[in-house]
Amino acid sequence: MRSRNNVVNTMNCYFVSNAANACGYANINSIAVVVQNSCSNSGERTWSHELGHALSLPHTFRGWEESSDYDFKLPAPKYVKRGNDSILVELLDKSNCEEAGDRFCDTQPDYLSNRWNCTGMQRSSIQQIDPNGMSFTSDGSFIMGYSDDNCQSRFSLEQIQAMRANIFSQKVGLINRTISDAPIEANAPITLTLPENNQSVGFQNIFFEWLPVTNATNYILQVSRLPTFSVLELDTIITATNLTIKELPSNRRYYWRILPYNNYSTCNTFSSRNSFTTVLDATATINLDERQVTVTPTLLAVPGYLQIELKDIIRDDLRVELYDITGQLVMRNEYGRSFNNTLQIPIENHSSGIYLLRVVIANQQFVRKIVLE
Ligand SMILES: [Zn+2]
Repeated sequence: MRSRNNVVNTMNCYFVSNAANACGYANINSIAVVVQNSCSNSGERTWSHELGHALSLPHTFRGWEESSDYDFKLPAPKYVKRGNDSILVELLDKSNCEEAGDRFCDTQPDYLSNRWNCTGMQRSSIQQIDPNGMSFTSDGSFIMGYSDDNCQSRFSLEQIQAMRANIFSQKVGLINRTISDAPIEANAPITLTLPENNQSVGFQNIFFEWLPVTNATNYILQVSRLPTFSVLELDTIITATNLTIKELPSNRRYYWRILPYNNYSTCNTFSSRNSFTTVLDATATINLDERQVTVTPTLLAVPGYLQIELKDIIRDDLRVELYDITGQLVMRNEYGRSFNNTLQIPIENHSSGIYLLRVVIANQQFVRKIVLE
């Protein structure tokens, strides 16, 4: 996948469902990292760790990768084996820190190549003994170590310098590349135009629109039943500044918001939210009354027939609809203008429960609750 897709002068980041049964991997000094989706949640450090490798950093425990079963009650040997290499073991007194272990002097010795959990002091509970007999614990704050992700928070100053040197000497294309898009102003005001805030809209063909944000090429549109957007009805990316959604359940309140972005600006924040309510038909605003429409029976064994009697109504296109309790349309019959004032409506074998029968003539409607059994 990397050889097919890598883009030059780019740090290529692949998020995958399975990263070779690891949380992630990257070659030391490369332009690609692979991270498993399940290891890329908020607060997790795999992506940072793999980017460290791609920008030339070894593990803080460099050399110990294949010695995870070492008995740390014993002093460490002077050299540790990794493949065909013998790697000098780092001493606590810093006397060999430029050649030994990860070859950084501001990351203390660390021999732990199994995953481990920090103590409250961000140290390992496992004591290690260096070749001189000096004992120490590992610093869990380093992203290039194997402490738990909660404990990791930093690269050392020398590690940061090494990553910068790697970019400036070998990956200058990462910073010299021209990006066609101009920045999107942070906190630029975003105007949501339709639906208007707190508007009632028909539950079908819902039209969303907002004003273009300067320099934005894409927008994320989110629709949720919850003002926190913790559960999403819709989460989509579009290049236009409007979108029509085919249908949402009716008689519900929804919240929506957008986030603009482009190739340059990927860290913008969401707009403030607007809300709207879905209704059966926003244009049928006049209610017909019981003298004009009669529905019998209201408790119906299905399959069966409903009878609708119409009296003193204007002659216009007539339709009859049936909705289930969640607002989903389950039946629609169109009659045109030439209908009888007594209608026999066949009702199929829907599951038993409460339904809404809706009779619509021009901008008038009649809604009646019926029970199917
Ligand atoms: Zn690693």
